[in-house]
Amino acid sequence: MAPTHVLRCCQRGLAWIPVIFIALVVCWSYYAYVVELCIFTIPSIGEQIVYLIFFHLFFIMFVWSYWKTIFSQPANPSKEFCLPKAEKERYEKEERPESQQEILWRAATSLPLYTRTGAGAIRYCDRCQVIKPDRCHHCSACDMCVLKMDHHCPWVNNCVGFSNYKFFILFLAYSLVYCLFIAATVLQYFIKFWTNELPDTHAKFHVLFLFFVAAMFCISILSLFSYHLWLVGKNRSTIEAFRAPVFRTGSDKNGFSLGFRKNIAQVFGDQKKYWLLPVFTSQGDGLTFPTRLVNADVEQAAVTLQPEPNERAAEVPVSPVSPVSESQNRLLSNDQHANNIGDHQADSTLKSADGETITVSMESES
Ligand SMILES: [Zn+2]
Ligand SMILES: [Zn+2]
Repeated sequence: MAPTHVLRCCQRGLAWIPVIFIALVVCWSYYAYVVELCIFTIPSIGEQIVYLIFFHLFFIMFVWSYWKTIFSQPANPSKEFCLPKAEKERYEKEERPESQQEILWRAATSLPLYTRTGAGAIRYCDRCQVIKPDRCHHCSACDMCVLKMDHHCPWVNNCVGFSNYKFFILFLAYSLVYCLFIAATVLQYFIKFWTNELPDTHAKFHVLFLFFVAAMFCISILSLFSYHLWLVGKNRSTIEAFRAPVFRTGSDKNGFSLGFRKNIAQVFGDQKKYWLLPVFTSQGDGLTFPTRLVNADVEQAAVTLQPEPNERAAEVPVSPVSPVSESQNRLLSNDQHANNIGDHQADSTLKSADGETITVSMESES
């Protein structure tokens, strides 16, 4: 076995340590709450039953969303984003970046792309040999391009992206609820043990420790959860929050924002009954996303473009208004299975962008 292969296997094994740690803490919290607190410490049967029902409800939702976050395969660019074989060979033989970009621009005319590198070039992953769809980034830990990549999370040993972002938010939400519920219900027994109102049994250690652990996790999860809720409201990924995506009209941190309600629907779907369940209801296919640019097109297609005095004026395309592509329409109307790669109107939108002067520079990504 090659040494690099052994190293890679070791890395993969070690990457599970944080997940195993969380799993052990959760198993211990289950034992401490159910056995040591509810069975051995709480005297009232009624209180025991009520606590156990709610505890199991939150426990199941927490484990379910954690499981789905860990084991959802990150979504990758479809094969339409790979260069055709002949083009790929030409790209690899070509040494001049200008000519490489020409090959990419030709291939990209049939793809629904709205974002560029900071220098205006087509985003291409040399590692995966694929043109990156909008919001897609290469994850060095997973060694693959991940659609709408948010970040690589060591606590779930998985990339958080298009396929599991909703599950990740729910995982944070339910872990917060789980910890809050434990801390709130344990508090009175924590005080009783602390002030020696209850006898010194082995349950004392578990109950005291349970409160400390739950309170500690509450505080750390709350900040992360609040941040991600804010990101959902703005329709931004963590990567985009640090580096604004670049459109034809320049970088725009709100480029994918469609307004608060639509932004929420992008991640959680249109049907509120599924919002709290870790089942996939995010809108779109992960390859294309409605942009504010496209929305501006829709709103202003019938009227003459006039510069506005506010900051949005800069974001309205100066080129002739391109009609919204069918792919974008389908995305806006929540067709989860839209297959819009060869969309004719998307072509025309991109062709109008084709005439731009391109400064060649490959995007550097971590
Ligand atoms: Zn890649
Ligand atoms: Zn990753």
